[in-house]
Amino acid sequence: MTTSDSATFSDPDQQMAKARQRRVTVIGAGFSGLATAFYLSRAGFQVEVIEERERPGGLISTTETPFGLVESAANGFLNSALVEELFGLMGLEVVPTLKAAKRRYIFRRGFPRRWPLGILATLSLVGFVLMFLFRREKVAPHPHEAVRAWTERTMGREAGQYLVEAFLQGVYAGDPARMSATLLFGRFFEKRRQSKSKAKLQTRGTVSTMNGMGQLITRMRERLERQGVVFVMNQKFPVFAGEPRWPHVVATSAHAAGELLRELDQVRAQACAGVELVPIISVAIGFKEAPPETRGFGCLFPPVEGRKALGVLMNSFIFPNRSLKGFSETWIFGGARANAAELMAIPDKDVIEMAVSERQETLNATGAYSGYRITRWPAALPHYTLALEETLAEMRGLRRNVVLIGNYLGEIGLARILERAESLPSEIHTSGEWRV
Ligand SMILES: Cc1cc2nc3c(=O)[nH]c(=O)nc-3n(C[C@H](O)[C@H](O)[C@H](O)COP(=O)(O)OP(=O)(O)OC[C@H]3O[C@@H](n4cnc5c(N)ncnc54)[C@H](O)[C@@H]3O)c2cc1C
Repeated sequence: MTTSDSATFSDPDQQMAKARQRRVTVIGAGFSGLATAFYLSRAGFQVEVIEERERPGGLISTTETPFGLVESAANGFLNSALVEELFGLMGLEVVPTLKAAKRRYIFRRGFPRRWPLGILATLSLVGFVLMFLFRREKVAPHPHEAVRAWTERTMGREAGQYLVEAFLQGVYAGDPARMSATLLFGRFFEKRRQSKSKAKLQTRGTVSTMNGMGQLITRMRERLERQGVVFVMNQKFPVFAGEPRWPHVVATSAHAAGELLRELDQVRAQACAGVELVPIISVAIGFKEAPPETRGFGCLFPPVEGRKALGVLMNSFIFPNRSLKGFSETWIFGGARANAAELMAIPDKDVIEMAVSERQETLNATGAYSGYRITRWPAALPHYTLALEETLAEMRGLRRNVVLIGNYLGEIGLARILERAESLPSEIHTSGEWRV
C-alpha cells in the first residue's frame, strides 16, 4: 500500500499504521545525520539513526589534551538564526570569537599581512565590488567557469590569488584552477538572495560552544534520544538491495553514499563515487608563547606562495577556553596539492617538524612545543570541481525513497548543512512514500 501522510486516522490500529508510515531511517550520525534527525523528529517523524562507528559526530570530535581542546575537523559555525536556535534548544551558549580573532592574516612575500593587496589590485577589487552592487550580472560566474578564470575576468589576478584563493584554501582546500566558481559563489549572485531578510543575531561571524564542537554533538545525541530518536551504533548500513519501504536519508560521505546506492540507483551512485575527496592532515600543537607579531584568528597561505601549509588556526585567540596553559595552534596540510596523498603516510615526527619549520619561516616564531595531536583524513573534504558542477543535479532530490544530505551537495559548511536539514522534512513529507 502506498499512502500519504495527510490521511485521517481514527482508531488506534490506524494511528499505529500512521506512525509506522512516518518512519524515516537516517544513515550516518555525523553532523548531517544528527541535524536531519533533529528536524525530522521535531516534525513528528519516527526516526532511527544507523551509524557504523561507536560514536556520533563523524569528522567532528573534540579531545582534551594537556595543552587544550583539540578539534578534529570543524572548530565552529558561521552564525545564523538556525544555528542560534539549535544551540538554544541544546541548552548551549552561543560563544562568539574573541576580540583578537578579528585580526586575520594572509601570507605574502615573506610576511603575514592584514591586507595583502597593493594599490592597483585594491582599486581593481573596488571596481569588482561596484560592479557587484550595480551590474551584478556582469561579474556573475559563468556556468563551467573555474574560480581562477572567474577572478581573472572580474577582479584581476592579484586579488584573485591573494584574497579568493587564500580564502578557498582555508575552507575548501581545493585547486582554484579546477574549482567551480558557480558552485562556490553562484548563490551570491542569485536574485532571490538580495531580498532575503536579515535575521537579528546575537553575534555575527564564527561561533562555537564553550567546550568545543564535541559538546554540541553530545548534546544533540542526548536531546534526540529524549525526543524518541533511536540510535543504532556500530552497525554499517548495507548496500540498498531494492527500493526501501519508507524514506531513507543517506547522511554519509559522497563515496559511502555511492557505495550504498550501487545497486539501487546507478546514475546517482556513479555521481557520488565520482566526487573527488581531498586529504587533510591537521596538527594541533601546544607552545609556550604565541608568535611574536602575528596574533589573531590565523593565517592563510595562498597557493601562489608555494608554502607547504594551507593555513594555521591560532586556537587560543579564536575562542575562550581553548588552551589550558601556553598557546595552541592548528596547522593544516594536504588539500588538492600534488603531494597531498603522500603526506598522509609520513610519520608523526616529520609532520611536527614540517609544522614547526613552517611556523618559524612564516610567522618568525620559535620555541619548543609541549605537546601535539595529529588528525589524518585521507578523504576529508569534497573537491568542488567543474566535474561536480556537472553531476550535482543528479544527486539531489528524493528518488526511489532515498535522499542524500552531506557536505558534497553544494553546502560544505555546517550552517548550510543545517539549512538543508531543516528543509528535508517538508521534502520527505510531500514526496516520501511509505508502504506498510
Ligand atoms: C579539517 C577540517 C576542518 C573543518 N572546519 C570546518 C569549520 O570550521 N566550519 C564548518 O562549517 N565546517 C568545517 N569542516 C567541514 C565539516 O566538518 C564537515 O563538512 C561536516 O562535519 C561533515 O559532516 P557529515 O555528517 O556530512 O559527514 P561525516 O562527518 O563524514 O559523517 C558521516 C557519518 O556516516 C557514517 N557512515 C558512513 N557510511 C555508513 C554506513 N554504511 N552505515 C552507517 N554509517 C555510515 C560515518 O561513520 C560517519 O559517522 C571542516 C572539515 C575538516 C576535515
